[in-house]
Amino acid sequence: AVPAAKSTVSSAVKKPTTLSLDPIINVARGDPTIYEQYWKKMGDRCEVVIAGDEFMSYFCNAMNLCWFLLPELDNAIRTLHRVVGNAMVDDDRFIVVGNGSTQLFHALLYALSSPDLPEPINVVAAAPFYSSYPEETKFLRSELYKWAGDANCYDKDEPYIEVVTSPNNPDGSIRGTVVNREGGKAIHDLAYYWPQFAPITSKADHDVMLFTFSKATGHAGTRIGWAIVKDKVIAAKMVKFIEVSSIGVSREAQLRAAKILGVIADNCRNPDLKGENFFEYGRRLMSERWGKLREVGMKSNGVFSLPKYPRDYCKFTGEYTDSNPAFAWLKSKEGLNCENLLRDESKIITRGGPSFGVDSTYTRVSMLSRDVEFELLLERLAAIKGTVNGN
Ligand code: PMP
Repeated sequence: AVPAAKSTVSSAVKKPTTLSLDPIINVARGDPTIYEQYWKKMGDRCEVVIAGDEFMSYFCNAMNLCWFLLPELDNAIRTLHRVVGNAMVDDDRFIVVGNGSTQLFHALLYALSSPDLPEPINVVAAAPFYSSYPEETKFLRSELYKWAGDANCYDKDEPYIEVVTSPNNPDGSIRGTVVNREGGKAIHDLAYYWPQFAPITSKADHDVMLFTFSKATGHAGTRIGWAIVKDKVIAAKMVKFIEVSSIGVSREAQLRAAKILGVIADNCRNPDLKGENFFEYGRRLMSERWGKLREVGMKSNGVFSLPKYPRDYCKFTGEYTDSNPAFAWLKSKEGLNCENLLRDESKIITRGGPSFGVDSTYTRVSMLSRDVEFELLLERLAAIKGTVNGN
């Protein structure tokens, strides 16, 4: 009886993980847990200790236009952009920190609009666009700005703001403005312009650029984003918005972001730490995942397909590299609803084309989940037959 009892215990221990038992895989959101193992390996190099009497004041730097920006974070952001070469950060540009780049998007809608205009300013983005732009623009029913849809179809002779995401969420394409009218304003959301996702071909040099800690390093929960702004008046209006909506940004969160961005920059600059270069690590991981996904796509008998991206010379790595976007933009055979197909046939939850302003043959799948979840995703996609219409 004793050995039998023992074997019962060991088979209980070998039970599959709760995740593999869970019938549902949710890859609708881009929660970037993919890099957890990397940061675990960094151990105490990223630790931040804050004493009880520190950071009590609202103010970080009363002398700075963005008075709630921690000087250490300002420094770390500029240093990292210089090391990576993905954005111009000359000393005359303003950095505005926000509670994620989400708050900065709201701040920019406020800063780029004007109460003197007779009508709310039109906000457009080329489809497929990041699904939060219409949601955030419409949410407060503002009298300053309004959502005006797909930039490709914009034909009004009125003031507008075009939001450009490059590389794009959801489809990973490299983009520029499409409306290009005199006096048009643009917000360049460069959340994914980092070497793990795309070749760094030049230093972005736009009037207004948004970046986020969430996508750069995977620390989405810290809620830190930053804008790089040329015009002082626009930067000052953004600061005013953040003052009114949250009286600044957590100094603890900023210190953590500064520390981690600093560790990345040091790892990139010190060749002795080559194996620890975060961007090399991230790029290898993303490229492995894309390789596996493409294999599954090729064997799907055309049930779904994936976009192709041109290789380009990456100035950061010094070689030609592929794009490995944070999301896979799946297209199913004509007549199929891709989101429903994945949900009904494989219990994979994704976000369908209509949320991004296009038709339902498309759906968006996050590539940033943990390994176990990604492997399960591949298994399920490989088993799809396309027999459930899902309409
Ligand atoms: N812009 C884009 C294009 C995004 O994909 C996201 C996150 N999904 C954000 C902005 C928001 O980032 P944050 O976490 O900094 O608010």
